[in-house]
Amino acid sequence: MGHDDGQALGLGDAEHGEIRLSHVLQGVPEWVLDGVLVHELAHLLEPGHGPGFQALASRYPRRAEADAFLDGISWARRHGVESEA
Ligand SMILES: [Zn+2]
Repeated sequence: MGHDDGQALGLGDAEHGEIRLSHVLQGVPEWVLDGVLVHELAHLLEPGHGPGFQALASRYPRRAEADAFLDGISWARRHGVESEA
């Protein structure tokens, strides 16, 4: 998510086979975290956002909801909305 804008919420590292999550994701609902993990896991197999990636990421049933939630987080960060955490 947002790999190109320097504000990635999760980062899949195919070389080391690990996934790091932004501190911004602390406290988000579990189904949102799952969406991020599925997204980044898919990137371990498919680097870009092409059809192969979409097929993998879409296996998560709540993907659209999770993406919308994360879009909201990104929007808030871009607009300087303070976190209560
Ligand atoms: Zn991505």
